[in-house]
Amino acid sequence: MSLAERTSRERKLEAAAAVVSHCMRCPQLVATRRNTVYGEGDACAEVMVIGEGPGENEDKLGRPFIGRAGELLDKMLLAIDLPRESVFICNTVKCRPTLDDGVRLKNRPPTPDEMANCRGYLDEQIEIVRPKAILCLGAPAAKSFLGPKFAISKQRGQWFDGPGGIPLMATFHPAYILRLTGGEIVAAKRLVWNDLKLLRARLDAPPAEPVPEPVEQPKLF
Ligand code: URA
Repeated sequence: MSLAERTSRERKLEAAAAVVSHCMRCPQLVATRRNTVYGEGDACAEVMVIGEGPGENEDKLGRPFIGRAGELLDKMLLAIDLPRESVFICNTVKCRPTLDDGVRLKNRPPTPDEMANCRGYLDEQIEIVRPKAILCLGAPAAKSFLGPKFAISKQRGQWFDGPGGIPLMATFHPAYILRLTGGEIVAAKRLVWNDLKLLRARLDAPPAEPVPEPVEQPKLF
């Protein structure tokens, strides 16, 4: 990757993040957000990691995956030699969805409308970074690409054609693993480890040979 290409992508991401920081498309999210959480990482990353949406910690600092789930994500990525800084991490929505329970603002999943409002920003990130592979964390992120029938327990660890033909795989969300107890944690981590090894293998695989053009048989006689 040339320095010029890297700089160009970094500038595009910065410009896009500035636009997102003024976004007013989801009035409820705008009213409660402290920061937008555009995403961060290497503009030339081989892997784009996509989660559901920022939570309280992420909203406070304007950075994705920095709470306990983020710590586990960092460990998962490092297990396949992907330091956090080497990937690009973002979410299906760039503002924290909240629910006021009368006492405090709680995290909640983004609504389909909120995801749709934010989709252009996500597509733009994918176009700029052009990763070799996309890793979706959890069912909501995967469904936003693969449709509502996607079943995380059955279809995690499988490769799908993602946006622009980029290979896409889903695995369990680290926050889901953190909610499990006892033997369930070990079992889920084992499945995630298998998924991550498939991702590593995909990154290490040599690029597919271009299919040769059919050569017309010369007329010999
Ligand atoms: N969970 C997500 O899906 N995204 C974050 O950024 C943090 C937690």
